[in-house]
Amino acid sequence: MPELPDVEYVRKRLSRWIGHGRIDSCKVHDARIVRPLRPSAAERALTGRGVRAIDRRGKWLRISLEGGGFVFSHLGMTGWFELARDDAPLRFERVRLTIARGRKLARVAYVDARRFGHMRVADEEVAAWSSLGPDPLDDEIDLDAVLARLAKWKKRTIKDALMDQRLLAGVGNIHATEALWKAHIDPRTRAGKIDRKDLVAIMKGVRWTIDRALLDLEKGDAGAKDPFVIYGHAGKPCPRCRTTLVKTQLAGRTTTYCPGCQK
Ligand SMILES: [Zn+2]
Repeated sequence: MPELPDVEYVRKRLSRWIGHGRIDSCKVHDARIVRPLRPSAAERALTGRGVRAIDRRGKWLRISLEGGGFVFSHLGMTGWFELARDDAPLRFERVRLTIARGRKLARVAYVDARRFGHMRVADEEVAAWSSLGPDPLDDEIDLDAVLARLAKWKKRTIKDALMDQRLLAGVGNIHATEALWKAHIDPRTRAGKIDRKDLVAIMKGVRWTIDRALLDLEKGDAGAKDPFVIYGHAGKPCPRCRTTLVKTQLAGRTTTYCPGCQK
């Protein structure tokens, strides 16, 4: 399942392929992806439009169009954007965009085996985007606002709170687990007990794990098979203090942590 670093990787590639281009044609092969619009309406809405910018908040991508309007895209379980060489559809291709940039054409395919992803064409921001908390890679996060939210959720564990998309957008089980280890914080700690110093450590941990995953993705096939430090490593020694890592269930999700150095 694509995590935030995967979506950031896709955003960078899309910016390179279609940024400041013009959508020469759009073909929707699967109505489910562009719901609630009908395929013909989505195709009409996009054809001829200029692409102004591609940005990301959490696991959502937003393609801003010249003259207003957006495409909000979420990769779901198995979504991905690929560059196609010719007009033949790729395996599991659901939407094809042909983008003109100068004299060059880029054929960009949205592929999705399980079809849980979206490409939602809208005139205004959709709730799925506007209800998200700040993106953890954003430089200007209001820490007081994050702390205020944690204080309200005082009975939840910090691990569970971190995965709530209203707190920080796009942090899933893997990166919450890794970030809390990096920050030396026990994932079972109540959210209301987290102070500013803890939060700064957690934010650093989140960026650390996302940056590592992103670097690994950019290496392509040369990337590590298991790039995680403690996620999925229960029973093995902690890389920091050699205590055996344990796993537990928090809010229904398996969480690995070190009882030796996460206090
Ligand atoms: Zn440890």
